[in-house]
Amino acid sequence: MKVLLVEDEPKLAGLVCRGLREDGVIADLAETGEDALWMAGSATYDAIVLDVMLPGIDGFDVCRQLRGEGLATPILMLTARGSTADLVAGLDGGADDYLVKPFTLAELAARLRALGRRTPLERPALLTAGDLTLDPATRVVHRGEEAIDLSPREYALLHTFMRRPGRVLDRVALLDLAWEHAYENRSNVVDAYVRYLRRKIDRPFGTEAIQTVRGVGYRLDPRGGR
Ligand code: CA
Repeated sequence: MKVLLVEDEPKLAGLVCRGLREDGVIADLAETGEDALWMAGSATYDAIVLDVMLPGIDGFDVCRQLRGEGLATPILMLTARGSTADLVAGLDGGADDYLVKPFTLAELAARLRALGRRTPLERPALLTAGDLTLDPATRVVHRGEEAIDLSPREYALLHTFMRRPGRVLDRVALLDLAWEHAYENRSNVVDAYVRYLRRKIDRPFGTEAIQTVRGVGYRLDPRGGR
C-alpha cells in the first residue's frame, strides 16, 4: 500500500512516515498543499492522508481541487480536536474519512487499511495466490502453513503483486506502486527486490510465484507458482 502524507509539521510528519514504513506502507511526504496537488497527480497512491491546517492552500482546498480533477483516491483528513465544522467541510469537500488529532499510529494504520480495501476494487481481507497468503491486517505472509519473514520493502512489493494477480507489471509500474518518490529512475532496485522476494517465497518451496515476462517485467502467478 502506498500513501501520500500531507503534513507541514516536521516532527509529526516524521513520526507518521516512520510508523507507516514500519507497517510495510510506502509513505511519501508533501509538506505543502501545492506539493500535494502535483504529487497526487504524478504517482499512484492507495490513499492520501491530508492535514487540514497547511500553509498556503489548506487541506480543504487540496481535497476539493483533487476531486475537481477527478481523482478518486481515498482521502483521510487530519483535523483538530472538537472542530465539528471542519469535519463537515472536509467530508462535503470529498474526503472519505477523518481522524482527530492527536491520534495513535495504530488507529491511522487501521483506517488506512479500511480505505485501501474500499477502492478502486473491493478486496478480500486476506489475499491469496495458490497456497501463498498475505494478511494486510497483520502483515503476515504464509506459504502453506509456513510463515515467511519479509522486510518492509519485500512485503510492500509482494502486496503490490498480490493485489494484481496475473497482471504483468513493468519496472516503472512497480516503482510507482511500491517505492517512494525518491526512487524514480532506479529500476534496477526492482530487480534486486524481486530476487530477494523469490529467495523467500519461492526458492525454499520449489515454486515460481513471481514470473519474469521477458522484455516487459514481472507477474504473479495466481496459482502461487505451483
Ligand atoms: Ca498542519
